[in-house]
Amino acid sequence: MTEKKKANEIGWNFDNSYTRLPDIFFRTVDPNPVQAPKLIILNDRLAASLGLNIKELESEEGVSVLAGNRKPEGGTPLAQAYAGHQFGHFTMLGDGRAMLLGELITPKGERFDLQLKGSGRTPYSRGGDGRAALGPMLREYIISEAMHGLGIPTTRSLAVVTTGETIMRETPLPGAILTRIAASHIRVGTFQYAVKWGSVEELRTLADHTIQRHYPEVEGDKNRYLSLLKEVIKRQAALIAKWQLVGFIHGVMNTDNMTISGETIDYGPCAFMDQYDPATVFSSIDREGRYAYGNQPYIGGWNLARFAETLLPLLHDEQDQAVKLAQDAISDYMKLYHANWLEGMRAKLGIFDKETDDEVLIADLLTLMEKQRADYTNTFRALSFVKPEGTGIFAHPEFANWHERWLSRLERQNKPKDAVQELMQSSNPAVIPRNHRVEEALEAAVEKGDYSVLERLLNVLSTPYANTPDQAEFCILPTPTTVPYRTYCGT
Ligand code: AMP
Ligand code: MG
Repeated sequence: MTEKKKANEIGWNFDNSYTRLPDIFFRTVDPNPVQAPKLIILNDRLAASLGLNIKELESEEGVSVLAGNRKPEGGTPLAQAYAGHQFGHFTMLGDGRAMLLGELITPKGERFDLQLKGSGRTPYSRGGDGRAALGPMLREYIISEAMHGLGIPTTRSLAVVTTGETIMRETPLPGAILTRIAASHIRVGTFQYAVKWGSVEELRTLADHTIQRHYPEVEGDKNRYLSLLKEVIKRQAALIAKWQLVGFIHGVMNTDNMTISGETIDYGPCAFMDQYDPATVFSSIDREGRYAYGNQPYIGGWNLARFAETLLPLLHDEQDQAVKLAQDAISDYMKLYHANWLEGMRAKLGIFDKETDDEVLIADLLTLMEKQRADYTNTFRALSFVKPEGTGIFAHPEFANWHERWLSRLERQNKPKDAVQELMQSSNPAVIPRNHRVEEALEAAVEKGDYSVLERLLNVLSTPYANTPDQAEFCILPTPTTVPYRTYCGT
């Protein structure tokens, strides 16, 4: 069978619109072969939805594409240029260890980036080796798929392959490549790059490309760039509210890690919170808590203000008018975020309608949870069932008082009990990727080559709102320890 025929049998259907942008936005790259690629995990359902043939993808030819050893038929590998504010400091970045293979058009006509992460050096690698280790790539796979299961917009993970090569970090580690699927990889940092190193016309081309790709409905608007800004603000406000509602901490909300599509991206130091505490930080380098759980909504606003600044030359010919338009749009962000969060919190408590005092009811529960160091996920999930048990926070006298207020609130809305329960159970996940479970799965996989732990975890995380017996063990909290859980960037 010829190579070409085989490649087509995988089902690649590319249309690479990014390559039609001005040259400054990317550099084409060549495959960067690795020694001994081996497929570790393939997301069958995602592959099918992309119109890819699973059997062919698992074949030697398929795996060599997922390892970056071979260009897929119709793909045009490139590294994207971008800049970004990292912990508040502006810097030039770009795909230093990733390559965009192309944009896949699915059988339904949707368009997704197909990107390899850990695929070797690029013109933007600076001092880095362009590679990634197996543990962190599997970690991204688990958490991004968990986010998808939770109904939160996110990049997805199609596959992980090991490279047969060792990479050097603090210790030698097995190398791996993740295949990532995204609505696009256009970030706030892509716009910052255009402003810093491109012309206004190049910036406009990027903005038009982005509108066409993610917000075609605003194309005909009188000021389509203002509409773009407003839509991105809306999507990010909704996204970050969803993070807060499940206790997800991104950990490195630099502007290069904020997408224009409104998908969660860059699963480096992220982690889910167990005990409710707004000051929770897991990232080893976030010493001042810039990206702590409770700060995420504000950092979202800060990042969006940086995005708004990049659009100023397109918003209005007169600068003060442009600034006014941008400021007005940005000032809506916090309101939008809060409305999304409040709606989500009401749903978590089974509330369908609105009362002014709902916010106090919610705040009082959160305060009590914080004081009692209650588990965020388990507390809300327990409330979703008939009567929480009288242990922990539920045995606390202040809880009894709160519980009465909540029950009378539910009575006032006149909704059948099952409707309330259904709303709550579909808003409060039973399972999240708890840190000790993720670590356990990674250890079994990386240290022992045992993938069964990871598969069970992925399976239970795929339906987090269901109510099944196999969830029980994944709701058990970690043994208390004085050593805080730590996560790492760029590993
Ligand atoms: P991240 O922390 O994943 O958002 O990465 C920040 C920047 O560092 C991006 O430009 C990455 O491409 C780059 N980077 C991270 N790890 C490596 C590596 N091993 N080699 C080259 N570039 C890297
Ligand atoms: Mg990044």
